[in-house]
Amino acid sequence: MTTLRLCALYAELMNIYADRGNIAVLRARCEWRGLGFELASASLGDPLDPEAHDLFYMGGGQDRDQAAVAHDMVATKGEALHAAADRGAVVLAVCGGYQLLGQWYELGGERLPGVGLADLHTVREPGPRLIGNCAIEADLGTAPRVIAGFENHGGRTYLGSGERPLGKVLSGHGNNGRDGFEGVRRRNVIGTYLHGPLLPKNVWLADRLIELALGVELEPLPDDGLEAAAHASARRAAGV
Ligand code: GLN
Repeated sequence: MTTLRLCALYAELMNIYADRGNIAVLRARCEWRGLGFELASASLGDPLDPEAHDLFYMGGGQDRDQAAVAHDMVATKGEALHAAADRGAVVLAVCGGYQLLGQWYELGGERLPGVGLADLHTVREPGPRLIGNCAIEADLGTAPRVIAGFENHGGRTYLGSGERPLGKVLSGHGNNGRDGFEGVRRRNVIGTYLHGPLLPKNVWLADRLIELALGVELEPLPDDGLEAAAHASARRAAGV
């Protein structure tokens, strides 16, 4: 049986706005299609086997939890995450997790290290937190589609010149409130500020991540009525 092997990184520390719901959606959408689903986890101090998982997931977190996670992730998981990304495994990181994918996250005179899976950095600048409903247009190799969710971050993220954003902001703040872009995508490494949780509101994205992680093409599910309503409501909230 084809099985999606998911590894949740720092699940107990990096899970604000019910980001764990993203895992529930991936599980459901695999099981409804007769695909297997295996959930593993790795937290502080745990080593990581780059071959053992098809999709690595990390949610958002508070600054204080990010500090503990940042140092541990570089020390115990950085090398394995690079190896996994190099062989095409999917890495999905939301908000605080997204910030730690980059080179560093600077706040209050301290620079938290990132794992460098994408060329970006984040800075906690003076000014208000970037909060509100947000919608972006993203192309993950099919046609451009809308991802809608909710953002709440103090950090502003800046991509290096060779790096591609996940999408273009249609409504909301995005990476830094200035350049009109949101998130990052480098091959199958995806970072985004959007909570919701993200995947229950955007099941097309959940399906696309499963496809990328397993190298398969999925048929649509017969009854996505509730999911379509959740997506429409998130878009309406963002005014898109
Ligand atoms: N602590 C980070 C910030 O405020 C991330 C917050 C989050 O994950 N929502 O920028």
